[in-house]
Amino acid sequence: VRHLVVVLGDQLDPDSAAFDGFDAHKDVIWMAEVADESTHVWTHKQRIVLFLSAMRHFAAELKDRGWRVDYRALDQKARSESLGDELRKAIEEGQPSKVILVEPGEWRVRDGLEKVCDRSGVEIEIRGDRHFLSSVDDFRNHAEGRKELRMEYFYRELRKKTGVLMDDGKPAGGAWNFDKENRKSFGKEGPQEVPSYRASPPDEITTAVIELVEDRFGDHPGSLDRFLWSVTRAQAKRSLKRFIDEILPRFGDHQDALWTDEPFLFHSLISSSLNLKLLNPREVIEAAEGAYRDGKAPIAAVEGFIRQILGWREYVRGVYWLHMPDYVDRNGLKADQDLPEFFWTGETPLPCLRQTIGQTLEFGYAHHIQRLMVTGLYSLLLGVRPKEVHEWYLAVYVDAVEWVELPNTLGMSQYADGGVMASKPYCASGKYIDRMSNYCKGCPCKPGDATGDRACPFTTLYWDFLLRNEEELSGNHRMGMQLRNLKRLDEERREAIRGRAEQIREDPSCKTLVEQAGLL
Ligand code: FAD
Repeated sequence: VRHLVVVLGDQLDPDSAAFDGFDAHKDVIWMAEVADESTHVWTHKQRIVLFLSAMRHFAAELKDRGWRVDYRALDQKARSESLGDELRKAIEEGQPSKVILVEPGEWRVRDGLEKVCDRSGVEIEIRGDRHFLSSVDDFRNHAEGRKELRMEYFYRELRKKTGVLMDDGKPAGGAWNFDKENRKSFGKEGPQEVPSYRASPPDEITTAVIELVEDRFGDHPGSLDRFLWSVTRAQAKRSLKRFIDEILPRFGDHQDALWTDEPFLFHSLISSSLNLKLLNPREVIEAAEGAYRDGKAPIAAVEGFIRQILGWREYVRGVYWLHMPDYVDRNGLKADQDLPEFFWTGETPLPCLRQTIGQTLEFGYAHHIQRLMVTGLYSLLLGVRPKEVHEWYLAVYVDAVEWVELPNTLGMSQYADGGVMASKPYCASGKYIDRMSNYCKGCPCKPGDATGDRACPFTTLYWDFLLRNEEELSGNHRMGMQLRNLKRLDEERREAIRGRAEQIREDPSCKTLVEQAGLL
């Protein structure tokens, strides 16, 4: 073997730089399914099925090109537990002169593979990932000399550089940002004509993987009753087309809204396909811009959607590689609570958390505001150790790969990185959830109450969070109004809030509190 070309589970990109110069007579593709990747965090069954099934489909496509693929399936005999051990065996067996791969999406994996090659005395060539529109170095250059990083400026640079949604050097539609138009709630009548989600039934490969996962990882979280996710590029392209044609025009308005029993609303559900590289962000952006240029979707919806991909997605990757490996251990607010047990079961009388966690376990999916302003907010307000929150998010979402999950969780939602990702903590009371959803209608708690039997735990913990972090946050001018409101609370009120917060910390699902108060 001349080159051993490593393809990881989130690198299923037919145009990958790993394949440049591939010689079918001399080179071999290497792909491996190992248990460690499903157990290092307690991974949701759908996430395992998605990765393994998509890998098997991709390997079959490569074989169709006439390429040799050394595919190491989990259910073959003598499989090693870890990627590193399995690669070491492959190097011993094949004696390649070089190992080639594209930058992995996780620091831990990159470090592990580099070490194996080093110890085995074989050269490793790590190639840039051209799936992204910006490189890790582009971001480093952007960050250099700046006191503060903000997504908006990086995004505008990329708009100018790529010409996306630009008219003669000016932003299309006359503004860079239409967020104000994209923050509507649904009002009393709720969302109208929500598209149903269509998925292809599992084929033979996926069915076999489902059986394997039930067998090997049966005790892992999540259900496999309804598996919705694209496992091939063809399926992913169909889902994208449907989104652009039927849903994109309505994406913007209610991007931040939530509704009972509506797990998907007007979101695209393409994150897992993007992150496994079944879809290329350029084709997604081009399709969305095309809909605007053809008059089929309004600028606010299209810009809002493109901002998520050209803006946030590229930006968080830059933050991850700029700050790893120490980023994962940051805990700027010194949070020290355990992740609540019910995050793994969804058992709570609080509809907002029950719905968000419930659909997460059912589908491995929650939309952005559920992740940020329901489970993320609750963890922040409770003061859960950010690493535990990170490990939960990495485990339960089908689209979770560390480069994108970690900055969103630890940075944006937990404010544990000292303000790299967000200029202030996303802290809010239950009134925010009440305004943006109908969850509170069926809840035994009242979003306006911070104390008493009907106190909404978000509201109690919101004030308690400000009390606990008052000093830490006092230098942040964007927290000014919230801290001024805090100052108006007298000592008696503060004590009552602290007392109630203590009760909630002892019973974070609020099951016992609600039962004891006879509110069920
Ligand atoms: P849509 O709402 O339709 O958005 C379109 C696309 O934009 C997404 O598919 C995604 O590729 C991109 N996007 C949107 N928001 C972000 C963002 N904040 N950062 C990066 N890309 C974004 N996204 C992941 O892909 N993987 C994760 O592991 C992940 N973990 C998150 C954890 C937390 C705590 C939070 C607050 C957000 C996280 N996100 C993550 C971002 C976002 O929630 C998901 O990308 C989105 O919900 C995926 O659903 P969708 O495809 O329907 O997205």
